[in-house]
Amino acid sequence: MQKDQLLTRRRALLTGAATLGAAGVAAALAQGTGNRAAPPPPVPPAAGAQAARRPLKPSEYRLRPLAGYGPPSTAGSTPVRRQPLLRMSGRGRTMVLTFDDGPDPRYTPPILDTLARYEVRAMFFVCGGMAAENRDLLARMADEGHVVGNHTWSHPLLTRLSRRRIRSEMERTCDIIEKAHGERPAWFRAPYGAWNRAAFQLGAELGMEPLGWTVDTLDWTSPGTATIVDRVEQGAAPGVVVLSHDAGGDRSQSVRALRTYLPELLDSGYHISVPRRQYA
Ligand SMILES: [Zn+2]
Repeated sequence: MQKDQLLTRRRALLTGAATLGAAGVAAALAQGTGNRAAPPPPVPPAAGAQAARRPLKPSEYRLRPLAGYGPPSTAGSTPVRRQPLLRMSGRGRTMVLTFDDGPDPRYTPPILDTLARYEVRAMFFVCGGMAAENRDLLARMADEGHVVGNHTWSHPLLTRLSRRRIRSEMERTCDIIEKAHGERPAWFRAPYGAWNRAAFQLGAELGMEPLGWTVDTLDWTSPGTATIVDRVEQGAAPGVVVLSHDAGGDRSQSVRALRTYLPELLDSGYHISVPRRQYA
């Protein structure tokens, strides 16, 4: 197949692929603590463009309230959870790519370039300290339709902090995201996947849902570009949330890996999308 045909096919795959409804998020709670990757499922066969698609009704975008998880919310519509969401529920072959710890002017722009090239959107869990110094990158993420989540201000281990410090870490980061990105974050991810009750409660108070991940690329260990690609492709499955990093060290392998696995996932019939929270 010629390259331009491939691109046409990718665009066809993307056409009509609406933002992944966060409805699925709630339905897809998996067991665990969020810092444990699920065992990789077998690599699915290429599905091409066969995935049947139908327009989503507005109601399908909404986050379904979770019964039986945590006490009744004190924060309006955001429930208090006892564990993070680890995957998105199946609306076809959709996966979510997430990048933590940035933005970093060395690695975030080439990641954004690759996402733009394939016309897909991703989630960036930014640290407030990094965001404050790279506001232009948060503005670019907004322009290009990416979702920005809260990853605390200074990336501490929350389980060692007082409730007051946790609130400060989270709240300051919400504020800088709102200033630079244009809206307050709807998603939160604890550094190191180390959650505690205060983090869930405060996140809900600040209007954020906790998101963990399904597949950890362990890219921060610099395992080699090919290994990162393998981990993503071996872990690929409907609803999977992939964890990578765009900061925190030399992330050039993460940048290069994306250039390989993103087109391959798209060629295999996956949609790469972001969750959206919409409350009536
Ligand atoms: Zn992190």
